[in-house]
Amino acid sequence: PQGFIWDSTYSCAYDALLMILLNIWQDNLNKWSKHLNINSHMESIIEGFESIQSGETSMEACRDTLRQRMNNLDRMRFPVRRGAGTSVNELCEELLNTNPIGSIVTSCDTCNNINRTSIDKLSFNCYRPTHRTNNDDSQATSIKDWIVQNLSPEGTFQGVKCCRKDIRSITTLTEIPWILAFHVSNTDLLPDKNFTLQLKSKQKLNLRGLIYFGDFHFTSRFISKNGDIWFNDGMTTGRECRKEGNIESTNLADLLTC
Ligand SMILES: [Zn+2]
Repeated sequence: PQGFIWDSTYSCAYDALLMILLNIWQDNLNKWSKHLNINSHMESIIEGFESIQSGETSMEACRDTLRQRMNNLDRMRFPVRRGAGTSVNELCEELLNTNPIGSIVTSCDTCNNINRTSIDKLSFNCYRPTHRTNNDDSQATSIKDWIVQNLSPEGTFQGVKCCRKDIRSITTLTEIPWILAFHVSNTDLLPDKNFTLQLKSKQKLNLRGLIYFGDFHFTSRFISKNGDIWFNDGMTTGRECRKEGNIESTNLADLLTC
């Protein structure tokens, strides 16, 4: 795998995310060109990856095209200058917009108000439950537990209030996406090596990347198809990725820091 060389205009959010996406895509160009093409931003990223692959463009030029595109969209959230960083979470939320994959229904039994919203992002902000359920063992310890809890047919307390009470939200998936991102920095949730979602058919999703934040800088780890873990920091390792071991012999808690 290869990483993106950091630029002094604070490119790290892009470097960290694109390093993971590019290396996933390179596993199988046809498969991932199809499955990552979920909106016009991703379509343009895939075009960029194709021109990296054919040697027409450098990796960094491809990244800078994306930066310009995002900057045109919102120059406050996606600045291109020294001293102004971009949040990788904001970037994921924008890049992982998609056709609805499900819905969240919140209903209040006091006023009978029902509110339905579509899940149209493949990027999720994980949170600590705001209201303990009767079953205290249900506290999520990994992302998989968090998903299972949130897909519970009885619903979960997600911080929604109505008639001065915490009310439940029921989350239902109608499609299983090929890629998901979870923002876990406010939690102590562990990543999972993989998990399986099932609707009509089963789909196994593997852990393919992790992004870290510290000292106003993002770095990342990519996990290859055979489970090898590769660390990259555009600022220090640049193009090179440092092999750190294999996911099969790694304690998942060790992946929380780098
Ligand atoms: Zn109400």
